[in-house]
Amino acid sequence: MGILEGKRLLITGVLMDSSIAFHVAKVAQEEGAEVVLTSFGRTMKITQTISRRLPTTPPVIELDVTNQDDLDTLAERTKEHVDSLDGVLHSIGFAPQGAFDFLGGTWEDASTALHTSAYSLKALAVGALPLMQDGGSIVGLTFDAKFAWPVYDWMGVAKAAFESTNRYLARDLGPKRVRANLVAAGPIRTTAAKSIPGFEQFERVWGARAPLGWDVNDPIPAARACVALLSDWFPATTGEIVHVDGGVHAMGQ
Ligand code: NAD
Repeated sequence: MGILEGKRLLITGVLMDSSIAFHVAKVAQEEGAEVVLTSFGRTMKITQTISRRLPTTPPVIELDVTNQDDLDTLAERTKEHVDSLDGVLHSIGFAPQGAFDFLGGTWEDASTALHTSAYSLKALAVGALPLMQDGGSIVGLTFDAKFAWPVYDWMGVAKAAFESTNRYLARDLGPKRVRANLVAAGPIRTTAAKSIPGFEQFERVWGARAPLGWDVNDPIPAARACVALLSDWFPATTGEIVHVDGGVHAMGQ
C-alpha cells in the first residue's frame, strides 16, 4: 500500500514534465493518491497535454493564483472532481525580469514577485480550506531564503516572505489540524529556473558545496520530500522547512 492511499490532492504548478509539481503528481499517484491539477490562461493547454504523461490523467482546473475570482470559486470547482482534500501543493513562482536586478528593480517588479510567489501561499490555502474540514497538509517549494544569493534578488526577498507566510499559516491552520511545510530544494533545471538570468551560478555553487552531490536534472528527491510531507508520516510537523539540497544549507563553505 502506498503512503498516499486514499488521499486527495490539489497540485498546482505542472507546466512541463520538467516541473517539480509534475514529479510530485507522478510520485503521489504511484503512492495511491487521487490528484487534481491546476493551470491557468494560455498554459492550460500545455498542462492538459503534459498531464497525459502521468500514470492516470487527472482533471485540470483553472487557477491564476493572483485572480480573486479563481480563488473564491476554487473549492466549488475542485468539488466537481473530489469531495474533499487531504493535501495541497503550492509549486508556483514568478517574477518579472526586472526583479532579478536588486538595485534597479521597481516596486512593480518586486510587488508582482511578492504577490505571485509569496502571498499566493496564503491565498491558495484559504481557497482550498473549505475542502479540508478533516485537516490535511499544505506543502510549498522554496529556495533557501536565509542568504542573499547571486541573481535571485527580489525573488529571494519573495521567498523570504514565502517562508514567513508558511510559519503564519502553520500558526493559524494548526488548530484546524492543517499542517503547513516547505521543501527548500536545490537548483533544478525547470522552465522557471531557466527564466532566471545567471541560473548557472547556482549550479556552480551546488557543484562545489553539496556533500551529497547534486544533480540539477533530477527533481525526484524534492518531489519525494513533498509527497512525504503530504502523507501521514509527518503528523506533528508544521511551520517547518525541509532542505532537499544535497546538504548545502549546512555547510560553512
Ligand atoms: P516551473 O516553471 O515548472 O513551475 C512554475 C509554475 O508556476 C508553472 O506551472 C507556472 O504556470 C506557475 N505559475 C506562475 N504564475 C502563476 C500564477 N499567477 N498562477 C498560478 N500558477 C502560476 O518551475 P519549478 O522550478 O517547478 O517551480 C515550482 C516551484 O519550485 C516554484 O515555487 C519555484 O520557486 C520552486 N523552486 C524551484 C527551484 C528550481 O531550481 N527549479 C528550486 C527551489 C524552489
